[in-house]
Amino acid sequence: MKILLSRPHMSGYEMKYVEEAFSTNWVAPLGPNVDGFEQEMATYVDHSFTLATSSGTAALHLALLLLGVERGDSVFCQSLTFVASVNPIRYVGANPVFIDSEDATWNMSPQALRKALVQAATKGKLPKAVIVVHLYGVVAKVGEIRHICQEFGVPLIEDAAESLGATWKGQMTGTIGDFGFYSFNGNKIITTSGGGMLLVRSESERQHGLKLATQARERVHYYEHNEVGYNYRLSNVSAGIGRGQLQVIEQRVQARRRVFMRYERLFRPLGFTYQEEIPHSRANRWLTALQLNQTDMSRDVLIDRLANSGIESRAVWKPMHLQPVFKDAEYVTVDGEDVSRRLFENGICLPSGSDLKIGEQHQVIRTVLETQSVIAEKTV
Ligand SMILES: *Cc1c(COP(=O)(O)O)cnc(C)c1O
Repeated sequence: MKILLSRPHMSGYEMKYVEEAFSTNWVAPLGPNVDGFEQEMATYVDHSFTLATSSGTAALHLALLLLGVERGDSVFCQSLTFVASVNPIRYVGANPVFIDSEDATWNMSPQALRKALVQAATKGKLPKAVIVVHLYGVVAKVGEIRHICQEFGVPLIEDAAESLGATWKGQMTGTIGDFGFYSFNGNKIITTSGGGMLLVRSESERQHGLKLATQARERVHYYEHNEVGYNYRLSNVSAGIGRGQLQVIEQRVQARRRVFMRYERLFRPLGFTYQEEIPHSRANRWLTALQLNQTDMSRDVLIDRLANSGIESRAVWKPMHLQPVFKDAEYVTVDGEDVSRRLFENGICLPSGSDLKIGEQHQVIRTVLETQSVIAEKTV
């Protein structure tokens, strides 16, 4: 592959922090970069309680532990997402209930959520949490969703792994719900080579999360443990990379948005559809995802044609209710139409990196247009 979906894109500021870690021998976990990265993230997203973790998955696991989710509980989660939004539900022994998407943003449908909560309330067993995802960096209908969660008294967790820098009514995604988290995996909008950040509600919750992330040591002179802990802290070297990356986050958002706008403009004659920005929101357009018109070009044909031209593309996430590992889980749609399945079957993500050259993007666009015209000729 010559043109990749989303490459790590260094700013040039990372080595200063990494070298500092080496020269001061803070190569071991923890150290000044971890504290610095947490504080700088807190400033950037305007939220007081940040906890750096070894991954986004670890951050979500900690959120569920802090909420006391246990074996036999249920947790509602958007079905159309990456599996890491759901796996931690199983880590704590709880059962996921999957919620369908709506057509505008492709994220959790507020109507389907309400229906699922009404059903759960009738059975007398509300979920311990709701997990909403801002897929590909497009803001979910998070105001409505938060309102519904508050009505039923269920905490809301925002999976903002893909949406750092995306906003709703001036607030950063990740800070709107009760808990939120980001991922700094290698393919995300900024990276620490691997890492995450959890946002919690209070300093005491942060302290508890920190304890759980560091093997749950009690504050005594010997090793004493009253609860099961984890090794989930971000390393000081990784945090140094994150500090260098965070300095250019706004440029990265602008670059990905420009990539999206160019695709959208040049594909206009083809009638594709895209995730929409709801009023007062700004997407970071981490990946440009689009819906092909069902009749013309099949997703898999296009993925193969692109691959033959050295271009990486990817099907939209396969919904969780269609995954064999979650085959026993409940799935709630508004009226029986399976929206997330349709979005998956016709959905494709195109190269969207912030360092994608204009020439490279035109190569992607040309290949898509050529594939379309070959298919159009065949059907005449
Ligand atoms: C990347 C991602 C995660 C997990 O983050 P990691 O840092 O890779 O553990 C969770 N949810 C979504 C939607 C993601 O894209």
